Amino acid sequence: MQRIPMIAGNWKMNTTVSEAQKLVKEMLPGLEKLGGVEKVLCPPFVSLIPVRNLLRGTSVKLGAQNMYFAEKGAFTGEVSAQMVAELCDYVIIGHSERRNIFGETDDMVNKKVQAALKVHLTPILCVGEKLEENEAGRTREVVSGQLRAALVGITAPGGLVIAYEPVWAIGTGKAATGKQANETIALIRSTINELYGEKVARNVRILYGGSVTPANIVEFMPQPEIDGALVGGASIKAVDFYSIVTQTAELGKKCE
Ligand code: PEP
Repeated sequence: MQRIPMIAGNWKMNTTVSEAQKLVKEMLPGLEKLGGVEKVLCPPFVSLIPVRNLLRGTSVKLGAQNMYFAEKGAFTGEVSAQMVAELCDYVIIGHSERRNIFGETDDMVNKKVQAALKVHLTPILCVGEKLEENEAGRTREVVSGQLRAALVGITAPGGLVIAYEPVWAIGTGKAATGKQANETIALIRSTINELYGEKVARNVRILYGGSVTPANIVEFMPQPEIDGALVGGASIKAVDFYSIVTQTAELGKKCE
């Protein structure tokens, strides 16, 4: 059984449409050539169509950074799963910035995961503890609580991808150690095992996210439970993102 590593770039609220197109044009020739790793770009909503046009026919996939759970209607400013599914393979759900800045609750995250799966859009579900929770020794409780809450009522999680992103490591330059990340990701996999059985747990891809750079990706990829990375800051620098993907491709696949 092999889990293909994934490197997903979360561009957050960076790049105008023309900047996004320029960035993709810089990255694409290199990224295109790299096999054995799934590459996903998640630009802002307004750049999804232009970026999709550039990625058409290539091995690089497209993801959105968010979506709303309702199917349609009076939700000014929101975008539905169906709308995203027409353009993208993936959608990031439950990022800590959504939870902490925009007040997304576990219940909303759950509804979003359900809505995405319903239209065959694959969620990249983010979970992770805050600094004070980490310091209070509550990492396992918080992470497994977020995971269980996000998956309530979901009997078949499809190709669900999970990203463990400790909030204290996001955008801070203070990444978790490979060992720390591996331990929590092992807990996530065992929770998936409990909920969905061994086969699903063996196949589910679980990424680490939080200050991943070209210098530290080597610390994460050799860890047995870590299947790739969700990259923020370094994903909008063509050279850095390419280097992270290249090193991931070299470090190879996880064999069970
Ligand atoms: C993220 O936004 O998901 C992230 C991990 O950011 P950074 O890599 O900048 O810490």
